[in-house]
Amino acid sequence: QDKHRYSGIVEDCCCDYETVDHLNEEVLHPLLQDLVKTPFFRYFKVKLWCNCPFWPDDGMCRLRDCSVCECPENEFPELFKKPYHHGLPSDDLKCQEGKPQAAVDRTLDSKAFRGWTETDNPWTYDDETDNCESESVLDTEMTYVNLQLNPERYTGYTGPSARRIWDAVYSENCPKYPAEELCQEEKILYKLISGLHSSISIHIASDYLLDEATNLWGHNLDLMYNRVLRYPNRVQNLYFTFLFVLRAVTKAADYLEQAEYDTGNPTEDLKTHSLMRQLLYNPKLQAACPLPFDEAKLWKGQRGPELKQKIQAQFKNISALMDCVGCEKCRLWGKLQVLGLGTALKILFSVNGEDHSHQTLELQRNEVIALINLLNRLSESIKFVHEMGAAAEKLNEGT
Ligand code: FAD
Repeated sequence: QDKHRYSGIVEDCCCDYETVDHLNEEVLHPLLQDLVKTPFFRYFKVKLWCNCPFWPDDGMCRLRDCSVCECPENEFPELFKKPYHHGLPSDDLKCQEGKPQAAVDRTLDSKAFRGWTETDNPWTYDDETDNCESESVLDTEMTYVNLQLNPERYTGYTGPSARRIWDAVYSENCPKYPAEELCQEEKILYKLISGLHSSISIHIASDYLLDEATNLWGHNLDLMYNRVLRYPNRVQNLYFTFLFVLRAVTKAADYLEQAEYDTGNPTEDLKTHSLMRQLLYNPKLQAACPLPFDEAKLWKGQRGPELKQKIQAQFKNISALMDCVGCEKCRLWGKLQVLGLGTALKILFSVNGEDHSHQTLELQRNEVIALINLLNRLSESIKFVHEMGAAAEKLNEGT
């Protein structure tokens, strides 16, 4: 067995790299892969038409029909064209910027989505309640997306638009440490975003369009090395984000165990519940890494409440920035994963902690879906780094 390239405890966490890899490989990754395929977790409600509250004058999200263009049907695999179960006919397959891989497939099972409680999340920008325009968002603007048909992968979205989003996320919202003055909490916000960014880059590298002419997809280890592996901090932040989100899931175990996973398919729904129980009360996880992250250490100082409000506002801004992502499929995964992070923050910091309100936890169905799908994405990234990292580094040494 190769010695792990990162050793010791993941910074600011409570478990070491080897344990995380081992647990992920043995327990978490297989469970999460099954979970995200269940009818409950594979549909996500989202408003893909963006109301970008920033850069209003550049025309990017101004014209609905302009930002999305129709694709020739024959560009999609046969499977994508078939209605899913009793699904709606997929007559609105669209693509953006002329790239079919950037378009979201909206094929879905219309029966699969039933409501949960609608509660506010102070950490995230809500499509339905925080609309920046005066008229409220019509429900018709919300789309249900089958995530299984829309894997996070290379889309061709790059250049100034993508760069502008990341720049805004980093420079306006969580300035890069090590500014020594940055407190623990601000450092954590930076690490969460950086860890998510690493995971997005790893998904691009793991499912890359290698040859457009022959539609050949595969790993791009060079990209993985150059965007993530050559910067140890980015790998460390990925592990940190994974443990942070894992802690949120296990902290909310009792709530998530009792939640409703009903989609109208009793066999599938029982399976969902059983998989959730295996994830939430996993003896191997509890033995090897009982406290993946210790949130009780935070917001202790005098500045605690003020700092929490400030970071909440910063995170909300990051969440709003996702509406400015100029590629539909990237926007889908950007919004889902930022909602997942916001849900983790809500679980860890807005409920039953130092918060004076002593609220009990209430999550929207969409928040639970985002949380588990985010954990799965991070788990996939960790697995990919663990399995392919050495090969990517070797490849780079040889060039
Ligand atoms: P970028 O990834 O754009 O990075 C910009 C700068 O950020 C880097 O130069 C570096 O200074 C810094 N940086 C990079 N990684 C980290 C890190 N982990 N931690 C800290 N700092 C870092 N493209 C796709 O093909 N598929 C997608 O699904 C997709 N989803 C996206 C979702 C969002 C929300 C956004 C904003 C973009 C998405 N993109 C996606 C585009 C993709 O992330 C890149 O922006 C694009 O591929 C161009 O990459 P780049 O090499 O310029 O570096």
